[in-house]
Amino acid sequence: MSLQDQLRDLSTRDAHVRGLSRRLDAGKRRRTAQQKKLDQLNQQLAELQEELKRAQAHVGSLEADAAAADAKTAKLREQMNTVKTNKEYSALLVEVNTLKIEQAKIDDLILEQMEGVEEKKSRVAELEEKAAEQRRLVELADREVDEARAEVGDQLDETTKERDAAAAQVPDDVLALYRKLDADTDGEAVCGIEEQDRKRMEYTCGGCYMALPIEKVNAAITKPDVLTQCPYCDRILLISEEIRSGLAPSK
Ligand SMILES: [Zn+2]
Repeated sequence: MSLQDQLRDLSTRDAHVRGLSRRLDAGKRRRTAQQKKLDQLNQQLAELQEELKRAQAHVGSLEADAAAADAKTAKLREQMNTVKTNKEYSALLVEVNTLKIEQAKIDDLILEQMEGVEEKKSRVAELEEKAAEQRRLVELADREVDEARAEVGDQLDETTKERDAAAAQVPDDVLALYRKLDADTDGEAVCGIEEQDRKRMEYTCGGCYMALPIEKVNAAITKPDVLTQCPYCDRILLISEEIRSGLAPSK
């Protein structure tokens, strides 16, 4: 196999590996995004539940205050039945009335706080529903990843192994250049020479579409074991069998 053929082969296998990984990666990315949303919802839910608990505790302590005031009022009323003088009675009445005002304030506060508790409860229910929906989306994404893995996993392993074997055939320095170009051009380290007009010897680079000097085309044909790069975009130029055989008779 000439160097050109080796690189053509490697590039085809690379593209295959990339295609297979892309399917798997897309599923994984979707799953990560859905999981992140779920985590956020769970976080909000936990915070809201904590707020609800605090509000409920507040209502509880207000209710205890109200009960204590009730008990005190009842006791005062009992005392009022046993007092001997008007003066004592009046003093107790003042105390009872003061307590009544206090109780009314506590009752208002309880009502107000209860509204807050109810509002929080409905928000918790809403969030719980949202989180449940989101969990279903995560499960769906999980299944997608599993399916993609079942479908392409083995193939990807096999293809990667073959690709690595093909890469091992290529000399280190060429491979390093190939990898760099591959990264720079998003997987287009090699490209074909395209024939525009054979009679006028017009050929272009299949990567950047610039017209190629005829020496480059000749080099690609006559020296398949030496790298020929496009002078404009640096891509490694490959000559197709069609162009090679088309040019051969006239040489
Ligand atoms: Zn080019």
